[in-house]
Amino acid sequence: MQKLWLKKNEDRRIRAGHLWVFSNEVDTAKSPLTAFAPGEAASLHDWRGVCLGSVCVSPAALICARLHSRKAGVELDEALIHTRLQNALALRQSLFHEPWYRLCHSEGDFLPGLVVDRYGDHLTLQIGTAGMERRKESIVAALSALLGHTSLYFDNDLGVRGLENLSRQPESRGNLPESLVVPENGCHFRVPVAGGQKTGWFYDQRCNRQDFARHAQGQDVLDIFSYAGGFGVYAAAAGARSVTFLDASAPALELARHNAAANAPNLAAADAISSLCGDAFQLLAELAAQGRRFGLISLDPPAFIKRRKDMAQGLAAYRKVNLLAMRLLRPGGILVSSSCSHHLTAEALRTCVAQAAARLGLHGRLLGSGSQGPDHPVHASMPETAYLKCVTLQAS
Ligand code: SAH
Repeated sequence: MQKLWLKKNEDRRIRAGHLWVFSNEVDTAKSPLTAFAPGEAASLHDWRGVCLGSVCVSPAALICARLHSRKAGVELDEALIHTRLQNALALRQSLFHEPWYRLCHSEGDFLPGLVVDRYGDHLTLQIGTAGMERRKESIVAALSALLGHTSLYFDNDLGVRGLENLSRQPESRGNLPESLVVPENGCHFRVPVAGGQKTGWFYDQRCNRQDFARHAQGQDVLDIFSYAGGFGVYAAAAGARSVTFLDASAPALELARHNAAANAPNLAAADAISSLCGDAFQLLAELAAQGRRFGLISLDPPAFIKRRKDMAQGLAAYRKVNLLAMRLLRPGGILVSSSCSHHLTAEALRTCVAQAAARLGLHGRLLGSGSQGPDHPVHASMPETAYLKCVTLQAS
């Protein structure tokens, strides 16, 4: 196995438990990255020669290596992948009664670059590194041995695959269903298998949706950035008076309306399910101008801060959209505001909603906060893996 050498003093993050090596930390005079095949395993050494563990190398990417073992000379082979996936599965089986969850959460399951979402017998995979791409057949074999699944979809349309010079063409194995019905906390959601958003369903908001629904009884509910209706459908099933979904995607809204009607036929019968298609910033301003008000609002935007350099612009977008949403609350109304940008801290999101309340001359109080569900474990030494936060604010 080749050696990957770090420059002097560039070993601290790895020693503190982190799994990533950045290309500017590598001593490329001693170990040029071009000497490695994409995804090749290597032993990682500090400048004194001490081995820090085993990595898979991504020669073309800024994050040029990811550690999969703290021991020297360890291949990420089928046996190791199998063991890691078996542990990942055991955790999910202890958390959930039904086989619908994120089965593997990359670094959080010590398999950097591999995400697997399980939909019963169907699996959707996101492979984000050259290391995992190289081991694709071992991954498939390990999953098959553990689960005996019937269909697989490789969702390759990921920005990170571009950074790693990997193809973005999707691929499938077995007979793909066109859509699936995801059961979650007593609700059920029809979602697409291929070509949808994320892997078809956002499992990460499972617990926050449940908290949201606790405030829904008798309320007019607005689900902003609804996708297939996660938050609004929970509210509909929990006794909301009406639900309005808002999203830029017409197919997503069609699913949201369908899912709401399927979970709350009484609301469909009362004509109390509606949707608004378009840009949220514009539509929220229009709703305010029309004097529309809601008792409960979910605000779950896409990541506005994807890279650190988007910080200022992204933060401004979070501030603006939170202000626009909060303006639509009735007195005593509740806003559940989420962010999936790992660059925006939980503290920064709280400040954002607090400032919105203050600017509107309202008293805001925080009723709770949430994070990604437990099938998205956070690596204890990698703050980057804690990306989702959610705060509940009541304004009066
Ligand atoms: N709340 C959802 C997940 C939301 S994902 C759930 O619980 O499952 C983010 C959504 O924002 C996507 O559906 C996307 O279509 C939508 N979106 C992105 N930009 C938008 C914009 N400018 N205006 C309205 N919707 C937008």
